[in-house]
Amino acid sequence: MKLTLGHLYPDHLNIYGDRGNILALYQRAAWRGIEMTVKGLGPGDPVDPDEVDILFIGGGQDTQQVKICADLQGVKQKGIVESAASGVVMLGICGGYQLMGHYYKPHDGDKLPGLSLIDAYTVAGSKRFIGNVSIRRPDGSTVVGFENHSGLTYLGEGVAPLGHVLTGYGNNGSDGMEGAVVGNLYGTYLHGSLLPKNPALADEMLLKAIQRRYGTHIALAELPEDTLEIKAHQKALAFKA
Ligand code: GLN
Repeated sequence: MKLTLGHLYPDHLNIYGDRGNILALYQRAAWRGIEMTVKGLGPGDPVDPDEVDILFIGGGQDTQQVKICADLQGVKQKGIVESAASGVVMLGICGGYQLMGHYYKPHDGDKLPGLSLIDAYTVAGSKRFIGNVSIRRPDGSTVVGFENHSGLTYLGEGVAPLGHVLTGYGNNGSDGMEGAVVGNLYGTYLHGSLLPKNPALADEMLLKAIQRRYGTHIALAELPEDTLEIKAHQKALAFKA
């Protein structure tokens, strides 16, 4: 089986090791014999909803988000929106997550329009949230990572968070929620990078992508080699904010 991952703005939205999420998905697919092609989608590159199975957009400073915004609203928007509508799995981290919502209003300058894939909006706050984060998902599982953002994200009515904050600040430091999940679309503030230390979340995304392309009868083989990932997860779970 084969999967294609579209990496949005690899040269612009790439802070705090977020490309580690791509490496984790690539390797976890390879361990199951699934061949993953990673395609960079920089400024000017359109997104083909028939080609991609997963889209990834990483974090970035405000200046980088401003730089790519016109392209995101231009050549990228239609393909990304159609991809999302067809069930493509998408993961947005921090700045990328913010642009999956309706808009991001930085400290300086105008609102940056988002893709409105997630009913959420973000405004820059006066405090920078920096530190370790752990959250609990609705199924009781935990997710760990690291946050560094001044943006405060507010989810629309009924939008499910990725989880509720156990340690750290999360979306806005006040409503106790972190991230957002809408169908196959995942947004989160968790850098780290996220997926290497959260193997169950990585496999959840991989399974959704595989089943969308090859059918819901497909399963992912368990990985006995997950010991290091799980050790890293447990270690990070003990970190203070
Ligand atoms: N520039 C955005 C903020 O400060 C996103 C930062 C990031 O991607 N780490 O909130």
